[in-house]
Amino acid sequence: MYDTIIIGSGPAGMTAALYAARSNLKVALLERGIPGGQMNNTADIENYPGYANISGPELSEKMFEPLEGLGVEYLWGNVQAIEDKGTYKEITTDDGRLETKSVIIATGASHRLLGVAGEEEYNSRGVSYCAVCDGAFFRDEDILVVGGGDSAVEEALFLTQFGKTVTIVHRRNELRAQKVLQERAFANEKISFIWDSVVKEIKGDDRRVTAVELENVKTGEVTTKEVGAVFIYVGLDAASDFLKNLEITDENGWVITDDQMRTSRAGIFAVGDIRQKHLRQITTAVGDGAVAGQGVYDYIQNM
Ligand code: FAD
Ligand code: NAP
Repeated sequence: MYDTIIIGSGPAGMTAALYAARSNLKVALLERGIPGGQMNNTADIENYPGYANISGPELSEKMFEPLEGLGVEYLWGNVQAIEDKGTYKEITTDDGRLETKSVIIATGASHRLLGVAGEEEYNSRGVSYCAVCDGAFFRDEDILVVGGGDSAVEEALFLTQFGKTVTIVHRRNELRAQKVLQERAFANEKISFIWDSVVKEIKGDDRRVTAVELENVKTGEVTTKEVGAVFIYVGLDAASDFLKNLEITDENGWVITDDQMRTSRAGIFAVGDIRQKHLRQITTAVGDGAVAGQGVYDYIQNM
């Protein structure tokens, strides 16, 4: 019986583990991928205090390092369900069952699909959701980036070091991204914009992506643009399918908590991007993790 099992080892989960372990609790950190979560998908982090610039994988490593020394058990597993048994919780993974007095859900979010023809067919053959993983495959190519948020603009900037050109196609005529990123993109000679437009289809030959069909949402005009790669950044979906039985999410799957990261079920906490919240960032994930890591200690003391 663990005192707490933290599901997900992104920045929120790792910080929760740090705080819970420093309170001398028996802690397991359960993850289906690798430590770091979404941070592994970005090369440049410039808004994490203490670092002018650090790569996502490096920050992930720095957050993970101290956990082993504190006795946090790192378990690999894909969580399928949590059963609330009152004084304890049962977690079902692909490999079996685990029991714990409390749970911290830190499963974050995953990239949303565009849902157009060719997207699935050319996935990993020119269609990508991760510039830091795949950008270097497209040296001297014309690259298309879809979306207008922080991810699209930041990753478009990153892709300029590889691509001959980088074109951002956005469904409106105004970006959602932070101003500092917008200004950098507007000033970058390699980046151009196609406004008020959406991708209708991703086309290719028998090997890889060769073009996209775009539609101007204002005029209805359809055009074809030749590209060698399409990077898609159209937002995030909550990684919460496995929580349906608990009824702790809103209609979009984000977990509802109070300011102490408690859900409506005693002993079940949620932290980071998986929460219904305004600002999904590493700093806010880390803050949530600290609050919940301390919160489980208080919960267990008062059980
Ligand atoms: P995540 O990082 O999403 O981690 C969740 C973890 O849970 C993952 O490792 C996942 O494998 C695991 N998991 C999910 N479901 C299960 C399951 N069923 N069983 C087991 N494990 C599971 N933020 C910034 O502050 N600055 C930036 O510069 C920045 N750049 C970004 C660039 C990109 C391209 C992206 C995609 C995001 C960026 N962000 C940035 C946002 C930031 O990465 C997230 O806000 C942060 O990682 C959220 O942390 P988290 O721990 O809540 O969740
Ligand atoms: P996001 O902020 O939700 O932006 C998604 C973008 O995709 C929006 O511009 C949206 O258009 C567009 N879009 C959505 N659905 C679309 C569709 N079907 N077709 C075409 N376009 C579509 O998502 P994100 O950029 O991935 O960012 C997610 C979170 O991570 C945010 O909280 C962000 O702040 C954070 N993040 C932070 C940083 C950083 O701090 N440097 C970097 C990356 C990510 P509309 O604008 O019209 O809605």
